[in-house]
Amino acid sequence: MGDMIALERRHAARNYDPLPVVLVEGRGAWVTDERGARYLDMLSAYSAVSFGHAHPRLVAALSRQASRLAVTSRVFHNDRLPPFLARLCERTGMDRALPMNTGAEAVETAIKCVRKWGHVARGIPDGQSRIVVCDGNFHGRTTTVVGFSSESQYRRGFGPFGGGFVVVPFGDADALEAAIDERTVAFLVEPVQGEAGIVVPPPGYLARCARICRRRGVLLVADEVQTGLGRTGRFLACEHDGVRPDGLVLGKALGGGLVPVSAFLAREDVMGVLEPGDHGSTFGGNPLAAAVGLEALDVLEDERLAERAARLGDRLVEGLRAIDSPLVREVRGLGLLAGLDIDPGQAGARSVVDALLARGILSKDTRGTVVRFAPPLVVDRQDLDWSLDRVREALDEVAAARSRAPGRS
Ligand SMILES: *Cc1c(COP(=O)(O)O)cnc(C)c1O
Repeated sequence: MGDMIALERRHAARNYDPLPVVLVEGRGAWVTDERGARYLDMLSAYSAVSFGHAHPRLVAALSRQASRLAVTSRVFHNDRLPPFLARLCERTGMDRALPMNTGAEAVETAIKCVRKWGHVARGIPDGQSRIVVCDGNFHGRTTTVVGFSSESQYRRGFGPFGGGFVVVPFGDADALEAAIDERTVAFLVEPVQGEAGIVVPPPGYLARCARICRRRGVLLVADEVQTGLGRTGRFLACEHDGVRPDGLVLGKALGGGLVPVSAFLAREDVMGVLEPGDHGSTFGGNPLAAAVGLEALDVLEDERLAERAARLGDRLVEGLRAIDSPLVREVRGLGLLAGLDIDPGQAGARSVVDALLARGILSKDTRGTVVRFAPPLVVDRQDLDWSLDRVREALDEVAAARSRAPGRS
């Protein structure tokens, strides 16, 4: 098979620093490497593989549609997109959907749409509108989106940026209120911040933001690319606060772990500002993506995966909290999205990730201090319990290594 790691190092741009494992196969929550070793996938590609690897119904929908009709472009109608969008609107309570491919593209779509809405519906001069975003946000990697990132590496060297964004602290509704002025068109927010380290806002935060937005005539746009489709124990994370946003961004799990499928959804009066020619995507809304996306929505419901995430998520977070380790500062989580916050004075999160890899668990550190756990929603309860024992061992090993070599992590 050759040395895949060396080959990748030789030819790939260095924008990733992968863990030293070469995956060749996946089934459900488990993946296998080139040497035949098995790992529990506790990252599931940041929710893209929420349904597990090679879900039989999704693979069947994919192969059925692939041999029938895969890509046509939106300049023609196809028979797979309408039922997909109808189902998506029905499930989310939105009026219209605009299908794209990646999460970042759907976020870009949301930005364009709310800006045009501000111009058309609110009379804000073109080029003058503002969008409020949160400190610690993650909405993708396009130049517009990294332009309002608060993570300096995501921006450094990539300017100039267009502007038009105001950053406020996450979890502070008063700060949102204070940041709104006559040029503000929207508040773009993740219901739970993933990349920032699984940051769960105080209860009622999103509901307060929704009330403020409504009172001030500002659109609330929820980026549920990672938190949506059952991940946090509800179909949408917004539902924990009883909020229906004005605009909604979905992605990742929508593609069933097989193809990139994303969408921006909104109310009629918001999406209605877009006219033919305003926006588009060659692959967006293709029959293959639509067939898989529709099947993914059906599987989510038929297998009651949101309820499963709520139940198993409680078990995961309680299990992590029950581990007594001097390394752990805090455990945060909602549903099957959990973060183990490692005290940077004790160790780096990457050392815990490495120790987990050696024990057959795939996870990933974020922001250097948090180990992120987001297993497929189909994960077995026994496998989850097994993983908690491995986490305990990994933390013990890292703590022991540290006590042998003081001052180093
Ligand atoms: C992953 C993610 C994105 C970007 O999605 P891509 O498919 O990687 O472009 C946007 N928003 C959130 C909240 C995400 O987690």
